[in-house]
Amino acid sequence: MAGARDFGQAPAVRLSSPPLARIRNDATLIARGAAARLGRPDAPWKLTLALTWVCEQRCTHCRIWRRPRGEELSADAWDHVFERLGERLSWVDLTGGEVTTRADFAAIARSVVARCPRLALLHFPTNGRDPARVDGAVREILASRPTRLIVSISLDGPPALHDRLRGDDGAFASALETYRRLRARGVETYFGMTLSSYNASRVDETVMSLAAEIPGFAHRDLHVNLIHISPHFFQNQPIEDRARSAEVDDAFTALSVARGVPRGPTALLEALYLAHVPRYLETGRSPLPCASLSVNAFVDPAGTVFPCHIWDRPLAALADHDWDLARVWALAETRAARREIVEERCPGCWTPCEAYPTVLSNLDRAFIGAVPQPGHQGRTPP
Ligand code: SF4
Ligand code: SF4
Repeated sequence: MAGARDFGQAPAVRLSSPPLARIRNDATLIARGAAARLGRPDAPWKLTLALTWVCEQRCTHCRIWRRPRGEELSADAWDHVFERLGERLSWVDLTGGEVTTRADFAAIARSVVARCPRLALLHFPTNGRDPARVDGAVREILASRPTRLIVSISLDGPPALHDRLRGDDGAFASALETYRRLRARGVETYFGMTLSSYNASRVDETVMSLAAEIPGFAHRDLHVNLIHISPHFFQNQPIEDRARSAEVDDAFTALSVARGVPRGPTALLEALYLAHVPRYLETGRSPLPCASLSVNAFVDPAGTVFPCHIWDRPLAALADHDWDLARVWALAETRAARREIVEERCPGCWTPCEAYPTVLSNLDRAFIGAVPQPGHQGRTPP
């Protein structure tokens, strides 16, 4: 694969991950969120890393599948990135494309776990198109004993709609089979639905379709996201005018109510995200001071660093900075982009990849703002 360099082998993964490590790493994550208000850390603690553009589905709302494979950092290169960050990383999302199309996907995920002992959460989304392949990757990742692994399976609606929007007959059945396999392994697995004008009126029907197959499945088990436009990630600008409608706004409000009181930290984080969606829909701006380039960043498959997966603002190539995000963090270009974010001169968005670290970096405001408030004021994290 292009971009490959010989960095040697990753260290042997730990054979056990005591429950105390999970408590310690969760506490570290919360403390890092609180500290974000006091100053910008010397490197990000949350990363969203696109490993590949390859995807076998043909989604209506996303054009990643049209992208050529292009350059992809090798597993060795990613290992060096994780080794450089080490204890500073708390949260990693590995995304694509369909990450499991990479034969070395599990090796990359294991490298995150091995190199980052303070990792509180490793997450990856999958289209669930190949249940055996996803299950095999998860089995390998679990062998490295991550403190917490969450897998989200993308779902766009009830069976016929999902298959149509994904351009893939049998996609719903495959996603369901993937969910069953991962749940049987005891992995925290969710369905994730990106709401757009294509499916917003079908949320209840989607939940009913899943409840018919999964006993006890309810609205609170469906995780939702709001469709966004991104030139350097989804490349879905052609659908911008058709993606949103009043139905989308209504669907978020209805779902927030139907989910009820959150149970557990993941549900609480999502509830806070949902509570601020109306504010974003009203203003088009992040409802809380965005934490991108303070605590989080996005890196594309070739190793180019961006503030997030929405703002097409390339900052630096990891290969030019010895694979060290701390060096990229210190660049004048990165600091300038951070100032633009503070001054709200970025496109503005409210998408979980970046909204969750923003919520964690503004927990007090997130709770207070969950109650409708006038004005969007307050000091943005440095
Ligand atoms: S939304 Fe996901 S599954 Fe669909 S084309 Fe994009 S990357 Fe592939
Ligand atoms: S608010 Fe701006 S910088 Fe922050 S995630 Fe959204 S587009 Fe990116």
